[in-house]
Amino acid sequence: MHELSIAYSLVQLAVETAEQNHLKKVEALRLKLGVFSGVVKEALEFSFDIATEGTIIEGARLIIDEIPLKIYCPQCEKEYVLKKPVPVKCPKCSIGTDQILEGKEIELYELVGG
Ligand SMILES: [Zn+2]
Repeated sequence: MHELSIAYSLVQLAVETAEQNHLKKVEALRLKLGVFSGVVKEALEFSFDIATEGTIIEGARLIIDEIPLKIYCPQCEKEYVLKKPVPVKCPKCSIGTDQILEGKEIELYELVGG
C-alpha cells in the first residue's frame, strides 16, 4: 500500500525531529495534505497507527490539514482555488492548465509535544 510507505517516512522524520528537539513525548503531528497528492486520507491515518508502533511517537495523533487545489490560469492570468480537484481546468474560462500552485503537498509541519 502506497500510504503505508508514506506513513513510515513521515514517522521516521517525526522521530528524528522529536529527538533533535529533545521532546519526551509527541502528542500530535500536523500534516499538510494536498487533495491532489494522490494520498487517501483515511488510508494514511490507518497506516500511521501501524507505522508508529514501537516508536517514541507511538500513540501520537495525526492531524491532517487538507490543502485544496490551487491553479494558475495563463489565460485569465489569475490564481484559482478549485472546489473539485478533477478536472484541472480554469473555473472561469475552462481552459486546462498544468500550473498547479498548491494541492500536491505531503508536508509534516508541526510536532505537538513536550
Ligand atoms: Zn482562466
